[in-house]
Amino acid sequence: MDSVNIARRPTRQVRVGHVVVGSDAPVAVQSMTNTDTADAEATALQVAELAEAGSELVRITVNSPEAAARVAEIRQRLDDMGCNVPLVGDFHFNGDRLLREFPDCAAALAKYRINPGNVGKGARGDDKFAFMIRAAVEYDKPVRIGVNWGSLDQSLAVRLMDANSKLAKPLPPEAVMREALIVSALESAEKAIDLGLSPDKILLSCKVSHVQDLITVYRDLGSRCDFPLHLGLTEAGMGSKGIVASTAALAVLLQEGIGDTIRISLTPLPGESRTREVVVAQEILQTMGLRSFTPLVTACPGCGRTTSTFFQELADRIQTFLREQMPVWRLQYPGVEDMKVAVMGCVVNGPGESKLADIGISLPGTGEVPVAPVYVDGERAITLKGDGIAEEFKALVENYVTTRYGVGGSKRREGTSRTIPIRPV
Ligand code: SF4
Repeated sequence: MDSVNIARRPTRQVRVGHVVVGSDAPVAVQSMTNTDTADAEATALQVAELAEAGSELVRITVNSPEAAARVAEIRQRLDDMGCNVPLVGDFHFNGDRLLREFPDCAAALAKYRINPGNVGKGARGDDKFAFMIRAAVEYDKPVRIGVNWGSLDQSLAVRLMDANSKLAKPLPPEAVMREALIVSALESAEKAIDLGLSPDKILLSCKVSHVQDLITVYRDLGSRCDFPLHLGLTEAGMGSKGIVASTAALAVLLQEGIGDTIRISLTPLPGESRTREVVVAQEILQTMGLRSFTPLVTACPGCGRTTSTFFQELADRIQTFLREQMPVWRLQYPGVEDMKVAVMGCVVNGPGESKLADIGISLPGTGEVPVAPVYVDGERAITLKGDGIAEEFKALVENYVTTRYGVGGSKRREGTSRTIPIRPV
């Protein structure tokens, strides 16, 4: 993939376990489990599933003594499975107590997420925040100070509202609330530094649930600090609404070079795999040209020229096949994540798109000769026909991968997707 000419916002670099975040490091994909952390087996399995799907950091809730007591076991289970994805602990009301009482939990996590709006009020809240920061210093862990619209520090909001009301031209309440989010994050970061946490151990986030608010908040936050920023539209929702809203917000910010880790907060359907949020995050980065993870299939939408669903099924089958192969292909065939595959429904745009792909097939539309030309590297290579087109095309794709991305192949690129060049600032 050609690297995209997007200047990244200059930030510090923070190491989260083995993953480097910030500055010119690739934007990292993060996700979060929805298992009960006290169920170590289920949580470890879901973390491993998310990591295999491509999540580079996985957050787990640490909300109770029962949960904290199992974190080290979850880490051990993952290590035993050969899964080294860094675990992020999500702490809220009782994080200080859990970090104090469960030192193996504090040690096993690669990062702590602290929500300053949920640590408590007044001096007691300050003490709890200070304890968690000191734990991060003691265990040499980075901290994400994660402010959330739904749990904003109310005393801070009241303070800013009061100050605003005394202005000659007060700002609208929404603007004051956005400012409160940013001030909460920045003041908490300052406090953490005063308590001894290195600035190179701090990441910030200010999550809201509306697209325009998120863009406004992050533009402002990004201009006022050099900490790496974690992006995400909180409570994005279900299905297409969640995907569209997250994409709309994140695409604008990423295009402006803002954002160092991303998470897509989708509400899964009952029984739906949690990995969808990882796939969506990857596809946002890949379709924007920022990183490559999995070969993507270009497919036409279909129209009245295609009366059968065959090409839709083939496009879906090929995309699923490509995604399923990636855990192995990623290691065996460096560069394969950049491969472009086209599955097109008829002769109108089929040959053209297929020629632009690394390998593409143009299926016959209604009334066309029932043959399917396959194009390889822009040249018509073979014509398929009969009932075995799907299997034959899959075999051709597999053959293309081994030939072009295997040892000595013309498209081989040493390294993994994490080394995709992103233009440094
Ligand atoms: S390529 Fe053919 S089938 Fe696909 S949308 Fe265009 S005209 Fe319709």
